[in-house]
Amino acid sequence: MISLEQITKTYGSGEAATHVLHPLDLRIGQGEFVAIMGPSGSGKSTLLNILGALDVPSGGRYRFEGTDLGRLTHEQRALFRRYVLGFVFQGFNLLKRTSALENVEMPLIYQGVSARERRERAEEALVQVGLAERMHHDPSQLSGGQQQRVAIARAIVTQPQVLIADEPTGNLDTQRSHEIMELIRGFNAKGITVIMVTHEEEIADYASRTILLRDGRIERDTDHAA
Ligand code: ATP
Ligand code: MG
Repeated sequence: MISLEQITKTYGSGEAATHVLHPLDLRIGQGEFVAIMGPSGSGKSTLLNILGALDVPSGGRYRFEGTDLGRLTHEQRALFRRYVLGFVFQGFNLLKRTSALENVEMPLIYQGVSARERRERAEEALVQVGLAERMHHDPSQLSGGQQQRVAIARAIVTQPQVLIADEPTGNLDTQRSHEIMELIRGFNAKGITVIMVTHEEEIADYASRTILLRDGRIERDTDHAA
């Protein structure tokens, strides 16, 4: 499904250039659950942002189901993100003073889904993450774990093919982290490909494949599904 060939990322130029990703090859198949690990500064978020089409590589080719993302316009890449991908971040990134339900409806507004269908689908997504009772609360009235559930509902309400998660449990305690990971595992079991960055071994254990980055290179790529 995903193919990176000789992907590089360099910030700055000349003597000030920082090579964050060295020519990197990576293939990810549909339905995989991949954890990206590695020391701080090793390029995890940079790689994830490229995979999520939030950032463009300096070189190499990124193909998604055969489509070369490098050939897409800015607008086409935005559509790719909106229709094909779902995102979850460490900081939840919910809109303040906006109910859980309205937060989850937001990506459907951008897709032009009718008000009635939006409401139905957002409610359904919130039920799926176990927040049926909290739909009308706004983020300030929810715990961290509940806010991350809202963020996950918002990510999956569009039925994305791939869920992109950067340290989804980074702001949560152990118990809440495992609850969030169980949820993500459930969505993976339903067929959503998951690509997640984490520092924590026990969070990476939910994945079926672990990629270890070091200094912008893949040091190890371990399949532990079998
Ligand atoms: P962490 O675990 O701390 O989140 P990471 O593995 O996600 O680290 P990245 O955020 O991918 O690391 O950053 C990799 C390297 O790229 C770092 O050395 C960082 O300083 C550098 N870098 C990231 N963004 C920029 C930028 N916009 N300009 C210059 N350097 C950058
Ligand atoms: Mg990072």
